[in-house]
Amino acid sequence: MSSKRKTADINIMRFDKMNRRKVYAIGDLSLLGGHVLYLITFGILGVMPMLAVDIAAIIFYLVLLYILYKTPRRTSLVIVTLMEIVLHACMGIVFMGWQLGFPMFMLFIMPIPFYMPLRKVWLPYVCSMVPLSVYVVMRVFFGPPHEPVYIFHDPFINNLVYFLNVALGAIMLLYCSSIYMFSRELMQYKLTAKNESLQKLATIDPLTQLFNRRAMSEYLKLVQHNSLRTGKGYAVGLGDIDDFKKINDTYGHEAGDEALKQAAGMIAKAVPSEGYAARWGGEEFLFVIPAADISEGVDVAEKIRSSIMSRELKTENGNFRITITIGVSHGEAGDDIEKVISRADKQLYRGKDLGKNTVSS
Ligand code: GH3
Ligand code: MG
Ligand code: MG
Repeated sequence: MSSKRKTADINIMRFDKMNRRKVYAIGDLSLLGGHVLYLITFGILGVMPMLAVDIAAIIFYLVLLYILYKTPRRTSLVIVTLMEIVLHACMGIVFMGWQLGFPMFMLFIMPIPFYMPLRKVWLPYVCSMVPLSVYVVMRVFFGPPHEPVYIFHDPFINNLVYFLNVALGAIMLLYCSSIYMFSRELMQYKLTAKNESLQKLATIDPLTQLFNRRAMSEYLKLVQHNSLRTGKGYAVGLGDIDDFKKINDTYGHEAGDEALKQAAGMIAKAVPSEGYAARWGGEEFLFVIPAADISEGVDVAEKIRSSIMSRELKTENGNFRITITIGVSHGEAGDDIEKVISRADKQLYRGKDLGKNTVSS
């Protein structure tokens, strides 16, 4: 995993920890702050109707903040917020004119329905037509040459209101887009994590953490295929814990499980990185080493056998030792891998007949 990806994950996990209520509260507080700025500006400019509109808007956002903590139906709160934005923009156009940036809000909010969890695909298109229609109607009835109630001849004042509108509109868009982006990233992150855990479930034996038989069968096909391509043979080892029934009978099934787990750890350690190890059955393990001759297979098997034999296994029901018998065979390029495994199996049985705790090839 690259460090770049890690950074993104940390941000996503932070977003995940924030609940929806907090995310909406940030939006509400930003709009509240924006309206306080309007209030100050219109107060200084003496635009009384807008002053009244903004006092009403501030009360509205305070009430909304209260409702946010009481109701789970937050989509309806977004809709009333959008209505407030449209209403505020219309009032701005009526009282201060078309040129001061108020109409932009109608266009700014057009994409927002697309970010909302609406059930029907066509609904965002219909919803976004509402502010667009308001924009057109306002342009027809209150656009130039209609004269607004308050006209300022100082370009500084006109620019101040214009850029205040642009800044607040841009912040609103960035806020909505950020939520959309973080939600999408979070979904992607969760999907990847889910895929990885599903893949792990499908390929890893939960007790021993080695590959399961199904995954190993796939790897064996790959080993066989690569061997044909490169012309190099491979070594296969099939191991079976000796007298495991007795272990279960003496120390209990749980202690048996623990013994399998510890034996698997030793097998995984002994098999070189280019090889694969799997739990082939109940207390049977299989390893394969690509591009290896039989002596390499025997060496690995001997390493496994001696490490398992010499380790005292500690379980809740007592300490004991186990041994393993391993049959090793060699596959040439073009050999049927099933037959190679069957040869290892024959060697395993020979080892059992020879008295167990041996490597046979
Ligand atoms: P041998 O030396 O001939 O291999 O004798 P054995 O007792 O190991 O052979 P056998 O195949 O008769 O018995 C294998 C035992 O392994 C029987 C079964 O209960 C036990 N076993 C298989 N899978 C598990 C497991 O997941 N956990 C535990 N605890 N025991 C298992
Ligand atoms: Mg067995
Ligand atoms: Mg056995």
